[in-house]
Amino acid sequence: MADALVSRSPADATDEIGRFAVADRGAIDDAVTRARNSFPSWRDAGLEVRASVLRRFAALARQRSEEIAQLIAREVGKALWDARGEAQLLATKVDATLADGMRPIAAIHAGTGARATFHPRGVLGVLGPFNFPAHLPNGHIIPALATGNTVVFKPSEETPAVGALLVRLLCEAGLPDGVLEIVQGGADVGRGLALHAGIDGVLFTGSWATGRALAEATLDQPGKLLALEMGGKNAMLVCADADFDLAVAEAALSICATTGQRCSSLSRIFVEAPLLDRFADHLARVLTGIRIGAPLDPASFMGPLISCAAQARLERARALSMQAGGERVLPGICALPPPFVAPGLARFPDASQQHAYHREEIFAPEAGLYPVVDLDHAIAAANDADYALAASVMTRDRARYEYAIGRVSTGILNWNRGTIGASGKLPFGGGKRSGNDRPAGILSTLYCTVPQSHLEYAGSFDPSSLPPGMPPP
Ligand code: NAD
Repeated sequence: MADALVSRSPADATDEIGRFAVADRGAIDDAVTRARNSFPSWRDAGLEVRASVLRRFAALARQRSEEIAQLIAREVGKALWDARGEAQLLATKVDATLADGMRPIAAIHAGTGARATFHPRGVLGVLGPFNFPAHLPNGHIIPALATGNTVVFKPSEETPAVGALLVRLLCEAGLPDGVLEIVQGGADVGRGLALHAGIDGVLFTGSWATGRALAEATLDQPGKLLALEMGGKNAMLVCADADFDLAVAEAALSICATTGQRCSSLSRIFVEAPLLDRFADHLARVLTGIRIGAPLDPASFMGPLISCAAQARLERARALSMQAGGERVLPGICALPPPFVAPGLARFPDASQQHAYHREEIFAPEAGLYPVVDLDHAIAAANDADYALAASVMTRDRARYEYAIGRVSTGILNWNRGTIGASGKLPFGGGKRSGNDRPAGILSTLYCTVPQSHLEYAGSFDPSSLPPGMPPP
């Protein structure tokens, strides 16, 4: 009998959400084979047929968004307001993909007789993370299906129930058999799927450690697309002329949303030195007031972390902040049992970013505060990082923000907005350990396809076109 994955709510270990059979080698083979067999007819069905199925899915996702949100809240421990936000993104991804998402893969017409067209890759493996267990896999699955690929999806082992619901809704919308397959399990199943010879590309969202392992494991399969969306160590640059309350509120939101478990969560705040005492004081006050509680309680702002292991990692990181020379502005003591945690803040005497505390993704509500002399100093410190996903500049002066564009080396740079949140109609991704230059968001249709270039001639043979010295046939 296959092993079972038991899903329990991190907020309440007695809340068993479901049991799911772990895919063995044979089950992965079968799923890939079904997806391969379904590929030619799905590719040839044409965009309109595929789009009509995806629009039915969007309608279903809208109708059932509360059911989706409740399941996300239970299985991830995400507060209901946050889970509802995630559930709503499922349908908007379909709308965006079928409209703006088709533009990057429109045929290129390069004058008479020269054209390029874009085509599906084949069978794509999607590996999902736990923190947005519906939205992020959906962010790969919708463009993959819209462009004519078939998909084998492996949800995070922490969130198998949300993964299964997503697939059920897509199948209910009318996807033909085999176009979307699901395999459940952990790292071994993910690796087995990613390395499978029948998979043409791997669309991955998760940690740098796993992305790196995938890149290494697929070195001998250079033809296999690897699209990596990984972690962040995101920065806010607070200038002396910033709207103070806005900067504090945006910082608090970016630290605490999803209990700090977003790739775009804020963990480094560079503040012009004269402002730092007041900023630390006000931010600590807001963070102390954050309401932590049961995810399904509509009054909760923040639920627990995903697991007690994640809580233990956070405690280790907090101990490291002191080794790194920091002073705890907010220790982060929580009245509720683990994996519930409280937000924490550490303050440092300078903006040096050498210690592991400043460089490694913590993935929890924890941030460092650093004094900087001016915007150039803040930019240099923000760029002294191994990740390059998101940053924001807080200033009333648009020119200062414009100055930072292109100088801050992240894929996302916001102005007077925190680091979390992004438009689904824009590219989403970053460099260094955050990604491998295959941004998702609206450009995901691009990595789901391959171009084919054509020289085209509808005329008949013209002997005068032959180069000198070549006889006509
Ligand atoms: P993870 O890397 O632990 O797991 C992601 C997926 O990979 C899971 O399905 C897991 O089972 C699978 N996996 C694990 N080891 C594997 C291996 N060796 N081979 C193949 N598959 C393997 O990530 P997580 O903890 O679920 O998610 C949190 C991470 O995801 C954070 O680092 C976060 O920043 C990142 N993230 C990035 C984005 C983005 O868009 N850039 C979005 C959300 C989350």
